[in-house]
Amino acid sequence: MQINVLRELRQAIGAVSVVDFDEETVRFDDLELNRVGGSVSMLRTDRGLLVTLSVEANARERCSRCLKEIETPIEITFEEEYVPVVDANTGAPVRSALLPDTFRIGPDFVLDLHEGVRQYILMSEPAKPLCRTDCKGLCPNCGTDLNQGACRCAVDGDDRWQALAGLKTENEGS
Ligand SMILES: [Zn+2]
Ligand SMILES: [Zn+2]
Repeated sequence: MQINVLRELRQAIGAVSVVDFDEETVRFDDLELNRVGGSVSMLRTDRGLLVTLSVEANARERCSRCLKEIETPIEITFEEEYVPVVDANTGAPVRSALLPDTFRIGPDFVLDLHEGVRQYILMSEPAKPLCRTDCKGLCPNCGTDLNQGACRCAVDGDDRWQALAGLKTENEGS
């Protein structure tokens, strides 16, 4: 997810370049992506490059209920302008690159898509991933994975739950 864009930055405004990429694993502090593939289109603007990214990958995370490791297919698409901190033709510093919330291209002219991808994943990802929609989770009492079968706590609690369920049905009927 790092592309040298010196050539792209030296092109005339309006020029478009497309780069495909394919990476086995991309790691972030708090997230890992596997089988990352997609393409980046770069349009030369007056300030820098308008980057349109489209990526598919498998995110490795943990089920929020039973903590099992799962892989969730995700798609990331975004469009952001990246501004070089140094002018690619003159080597002069570019002031507008220092504005807050600007994605920057460093003095080495390497377009690093990591941070942008990370931000978009955090925005699009479900807050509570599940291994399957009906995951039963772990018993809060003894920690047993309830997908593998009931624990003893459930047996003890059963009568009370059934009594409650019975009450509820009666109320609904009246
Ligand atoms: Zn689960
Ligand atoms: Zn239990």
